[in-house]
Amino acid sequence: MSENKFSPFELIESFGHEQVVFCSNKELGLKAIIGIHNTTLGPALGGTRMWNYASDEEALIDVLRLSRGMTYKAAVAGLNLGGGKAVIIGDSRTQKTEGLFRAFGRYVEGLSGRYITAEDVGTSIKDMEYIMMETRHVTGIPIEVGGSGDPSPVTAYGTYVGIKACVNEVYGNDSLKGKKVIIQGAGGNVGKHLCKYLHEDGAVLFVNDIYEDKLKKLVTDFKAKVLNDEEVYTTDADVFSPAALGGIINDDTIPKFKVKIIAGAANNQLGEEEKHGKMLKDKGILYAPDYVINAGGLINVYNELEGYNRERALKQTAGIYDILKSIINISKKDNVPTEVASRKIAENRMEAVSQAKRIRIYRDKRLFNQRNM
Ligand code: NAD
Repeated sequence: MSENKFSPFELIESFGHEQVVFCSNKELGLKAIIGIHNTTLGPALGGTRMWNYASDEEALIDVLRLSRGMTYKAAVAGLNLGGGKAVIIGDSRTQKTEGLFRAFGRYVEGLSGRYITAEDVGTSIKDMEYIMMETRHVTGIPIEVGGSGDPSPVTAYGTYVGIKACVNEVYGNDSLKGKKVIIQGAGGNVGKHLCKYLHEDGAVLFVNDIYEDKLKKLVTDFKAKVLNDEEVYTTDADVFSPAALGGIINDDTIPKFKVKIIAGAANNQLGEEEKHGKMLKDKGILYAPDYVINAGGLINVYNELEGYNRERALKQTAGIYDILKSIINISKKDNVPTEVASRKIAENRMEAVSQAKRIRIYRDKRLFNQRNM
């Protein structure tokens, strides 16, 4: 990138996006960017984030980064979806209006299904309802209006089966009986459901959260032991399962870990993907890439697009077990971090599907020529 000069096209090219849409409506205060990274596998799906970015450049970089991440997430999960995301620039506490979201909805509608939106940080179901007044291309909506509802229980289920896949790799069998599992953010939407699955399977729970009242219930229901903010990284256990913050695997925490497995739902766990993925591998800690193990929520909304069925969504989410096993096998075979192995699976799948589509176009043309002979 040229020094000190903000060049949107150079940025977009460096992330490899197909299309980026800038949405502006001065009267309604709308400034938004929709990033469509890659639609090889299907329509680009990803939530709309509302955030008070310090600059337009920061907003663009965020939407490019997040939408590219969605491409990889959908590809590894085996879904026929591409990667997309949108950002609305503004303060989500003070700048939300019906007009703003309806104007944004019209931009989504204008993309004719190439981009499908959903809730994200800073947006709510209420905002999605306004967007839905202008477009059908919205997912992750409440059960009452025909949607799939809160995805957290499905995300938690996917995380649970992902933990079992990792335990199988390290201990030679799937049993969680007596296994010590640390859950950070245990009182949250994903954390509390995950605790239930783990407890029912015989795991011993160590929990941490910033809200004591949320922890009390886990102590009563699951005999969990509470850890403070330091102990969550230093306690000797089998599994560390982050379900709160991003960036918690870093130069500071990696030397402290006394676990064999890190497998949790939190987004963007690695401070720096390549560096910290490699540091975990060198330390002998098996890391389940976050966007693979937490794909249950995306699988859930994908099912909503096809007419929601909870059984089918859970069955598909159970597939995270085999996906993680394949990633671990490639990681061992190629001697690379699991993060690198999962990117390889995603890229191979996109390459194969794009190759298959090329063949289809050729055959269609041949038929056309024959008919016109
Ligand atoms: P949530 O807000 O319901 O839960 C997060 C929990 O973490 C809360 O109980 C909160 O009190 C706690 N917390 C916040 N800061 C903390 C800190 N410094 N130390 C310890 N605990 C802290 O969110 P959620 O929906 O359960 O999501 C959890 C994580 O999983 C997030 O990173 C989210 O992006 C990711 N994720 C969630 C889903 C989903 O379906 N909900 C899907 C994919 C990824």
